[in-house]
Amino acid sequence: MKDPDCIFCRIAAGDIPATKVFQDDACLAFMDIGPLAEGHLLLIPKTHAETLDKMSADQAAAVLRHLPALVRAVKETTGCEGVNVLQNNGRVAHQVVPHVHFHIIPRNGGDSFHFNWPAGQYPRGRAEELAAAIRDCLTV
Ligand code: AMP
Ligand code: ZN
Repeated sequence: MKDPDCIFCRIAAGDIPATKVFQDDACLAFMDIGPLAEGHLLLIPKTHAETLDKMSADQAAAVLRHLPALVRAVKETTGCEGVNVLQNNGRVAHQVVPHVHFHIIPRNGGDSFHFNWPAGQYPRGRAEELAAAIRDCLTV
């Protein structure tokens, strides 16, 4: 299940070189070629899925089960103070490579990676209304 036009499928298949950290049948972790910090990893499923919503629960579980160990290893190796796990879906959400990937990014006080996090506020009743609508859409 690889897409010949997808760079991460080609990395997973070994057709394009990458500095690999871990792999099993379901997933691959490798060094990001444009790190936001030393030790920045990407964790990907080996089966192509463009965005997270296209993955099955089992496929996601098989990939995500390795996140804690990878985060531990990155923390221990780099000595970083914190870690962001980021996963972008869609161009508007800053997804450049259309194959699901989880960024594991070491963080330190004073580093140059900043979020713009414009937290809003719900009018009375709106959060409950949205929660109910989302609940109705959920297929678990
Ligand atoms: P995103 O903006 O979430 O799609 O992030 C894509 C990430 O993939 C970026 O951090 C890139 O530096 C990284 N990337 C793109 N091509 C490669 C590659 N050939 N090997 C390793 N990382 C890559
Ligand atoms: Zn792919």
